[in-house]
Amino acid sequence: MRGEEVSALSERFVIIGGQAAGMSAASQAKRRAPKSEIVVFEAGTDISSLLCGLPYFLGGVVERIDDLTVVSRDEFTDKRRINVQIQHDVLSIDVKERRLRVLDKKNGEERIEPFDKLCIAAGAHPTIPEMAASGLDGVFHLRMPADAVRIRRYIKEHEPRTAVVVGAGYLGLELAENLALLGLTVTLVERLSEVMGNIGREIGQLVAQTLSRNGVGLRLDADIGAVDGTDRARCVRVAGGGDIDADLVVFATGIAPTSGLGLEAGLAMGASGSIRVDDRQRTSADGVFAAGDCCEARHLITGEPVYFPLGTTANKQGRVAGANAVGGDEIFHGVVGTQIVRVFGLEVARTGLTRAEAIKAGFSAMSKTIKANSRANYFPGGGEVFVKIVFDQTTGRILGAQIAGQEGVKGRIDVFVAAITAKMSVSEFADLDLAYAPPFSPVWDPVLIASNVAKRNVRGES
Ligand SMILES: Cc1cc2nc3c(=O)[nH]c(=O)nc-3n(C[C@H](O)[C@H](O)[C@H](O)COP(=O)(O)OP(=O)(O)OC[C@H]3O[C@@H](n4cnc5c(N)ncnc54)[C@H](O)[C@@H]3O)c2cc1C
Repeated sequence: MRGEEVSALSERFVIIGGQAAGMSAASQAKRRAPKSEIVVFEAGTDISSLLCGLPYFLGGVVERIDDLTVVSRDEFTDKRRINVQIQHDVLSIDVKERRLRVLDKKNGEERIEPFDKLCIAAGAHPTIPEMAASGLDGVFHLRMPADAVRIRRYIKEHEPRTAVVVGAGYLGLELAENLALLGLTVTLVERLSEVMGNIGREIGQLVAQTLSRNGVGLRLDADIGAVDGTDRARCVRVAGGGDIDADLVVFATGIAPTSGLGLEAGLAMGASGSIRVDDRQRTSADGVFAAGDCCEARHLITGEPVYFPLGTTANKQGRVAGANAVGGDEIFHGVVGTQIVRVFGLEVARTGLTRAEAIKAGFSAMSKTIKANSRANYFPGGGEVFVKIVFDQTTGRILGAQIAGQEGVKGRIDVFVAAITAKMSVSEFADLDLAYAPPFSPVWDPVLIASNVAKRNVRGES
């Protein structure tokens, strides 16, 4: 049934949210059930945006904000015959009566909109500490294209010389790099004692060294007390002392699921306050689906629901929700927690569980770290690759990997993603017939070296 036209239904399928998950759901539903009426309500002005490109728009790597729109509203409306209503805020959901209360922000009028099937794809919103709302100009967060345009305009108009980025997760790192590319003196401030809290200490230290080599200041174990200035931001006060000059402050302090509509409608809630869904993206209410950053996913190693909001997941969950809303029977199997980021040429990725996470999940987890060349030793270019492999000492099952290096990290982490999904052991992994030629890897690829080292530490293996 995959991908087929499954339904001659002419039901009204309504979607809340017009980004990755919402527009994937809309497109998939229309493709499978062309006679359905499909309506998308989007509170903002942008739809189908490639948010992942926003830090690169700030840094000037991407020149036009319009390049970060996948499909235009006209194409959705005219070619795909999907009714996209921007600046329409859904205020509440009445699951029993199957209707929504919607505010048309253009004229301030409220109206009732019926639905047969519903998909909540309301995404997530930045979690910003209260003191960030100082009322000062020059204090920002980055979530939507409009935020990026605002920051770019501010930089052009006020020519800030110093910037503080708060939060050293993947978004904070991308922001620090891109603001530094513009010539600003950047300090990255992090409350924890390491950058990228979910990548492990060794690789975190590599990232810290890379930042410092590229002139980005790093303040770890530092809590922001206040943003100071008269009308505009001028300085960030750090609790315990050591204020930092900041003509521009960008908060990258995490996100939370926009799940309030679902909560108020009585839907069951799941991991980290996101909407609970099953593997068909069904919520606890009949005919109501959820997809993307507003809902949870199942972790394929632990089997537990998790909140791991990323663009790839939003697209996949949206497709599944859209297909199933019009009569399909698709499954979203889950996630293994894969993430990748590039920081000034250093590629850093993780998948699966860290050793600490694996122990917490009940595995007898061990980890081994190796360093090897990314190319054959005699071949010019390349550099060192660090591979940390996490595995179960009793069964040999691979549970996670973290990799950093100057090149080839994406390909290497993706091999681990496949292996973890297939529940492979380190012995099976070590036998994989991976591609080899000198410009790409040594004869023994770093991931094979790591799995061989791990293999020697599995009980019963020698
Ligand atoms: C700067 C940045 C960089 C990123 N980089 C990466 C990356 O490199 N790799 C990766 O995998 N992911 C990345 N992501 C994450 C990825 O972009 C998100 O996971 C993805 O956009 C989630 O899509 P979504 O449709 O679920 O939610 P969102 O993109 O949050 O969209 C939800 C939409 O719903 C609308 N909405 C909310 N409430 C209502 C309402 N009541 N009525 C009407 N509309 C409503 C919102 O206005 C919004 O437009 C990045 C995100 C950002 C912000």
